[in-house]
Amino acid sequence: MQTVKVGNMSARTGEKVSGYVQVKGMDIELPVTIICGDKEGKTVFISGGVHNAEYVGIQTAIEIASEISPSQLTGNLIILHLMNRTGFEHRTMSLVYEDGKNLNREFPGSEQGTVADKICHTVVTEFQRNADYYIDLHCGDGYEELIPYVYCVGVADPEVAHKSREMAEMVNVAYLVQSPCGSGGAYNYAGSCGIPSILIERGCMGRWSKEEVKLGKEDIRNVLRYLGVLEGDVSERTYHPVDVGIVIYKNAAHTGCWYPTKRAGDTFKKGEILGQVKDYFGNVLESCIAEMDGILLYHVGSLCVIKGGSMVAYGENVNQQ
Ligand SMILES: [Zn+2]
Repeated sequence: MQTVKVGNMSARTGEKVSGYVQVKGMDIELPVTIICGDKEGKTVFISGGVHNAEYVGIQTAIEIASEISPSQLTGNLIILHLMNRTGFEHRTMSLVYEDGKNLNREFPGSEQGTVADKICHTVVTEFQRNADYYIDLHCGDGYEELIPYVYCVGVADPEVAHKSREMAEMVNVAYLVQSPCGSGGAYNYAGSCGIPSILIERGCMGRWSKEEVKLGKEDIRNVLRYLGVLEGDVSERTYHPVDVGIVIYKNAAHTGCWYPTKRAGDTFKKGEILGQVKDYFGNVLESCIAEMDGILLYHVGSLCVIKGGSMVAYGENVNQQ
């Protein structure tokens, strides 16, 4: 008999339990489902809503928690439906309501800090502590347009990085990014602790659709099947992700209005203008120039762009045809 314990919740072999786990030292409660397989095996942690306006990931977590039963599992799932709950309930886009911090820059957090630090600390000490593998569900933020792609851990033990890449290759998206970071993001931190981890980007602009959620759920099922945790064979996929190599993340130097010239998924040559920031009279404040041939992974999709905030992210165009 196996028991999986997360905060004040626990489930035993063959049980599925849903409820709330308290953020340590706070009165914030996070919605969680633990599914303990009929057969014992590895534990996979799945989280949605690290960024609370990334609705496809949140709805995917909610539905996968409802649909998978213990009889289908050799091992366990711990599903955190929504990590930034107060942000969600105040519709802050990505930031924690109480302190304005981006959760995915605060891992591993601490017991002493502000709300974001405490959420990260709880996720590390209660959720990641139990995990053999980790899948983090994101989208473009409420103001970001992106094409679906997947990140895998890069700064980790070679075996962990290799396993992370194999998990990412199960995801039905065109592009893959191996992360050069070992901290900050929830999955980067987990990877540095020896947990093979991926981050899936699917959906954007504060929207969600049944079709995207269906694709998101199939991504999770295929990763779980590959890991031997979920019964059945990996299903046919439209895409087999190609590594885009180096990724350039460009932040805006000015606050103003953003006029993109490309769409997410477009390819371009070094030197092309990807968009411009203008003032409220139409005067150009800056042009965003491609520093290499590339593929646009995401960019700001709202009129408003903010100084120091994201503007574009693009990878090396290794898939040029
Ligand atoms: Zn995100």
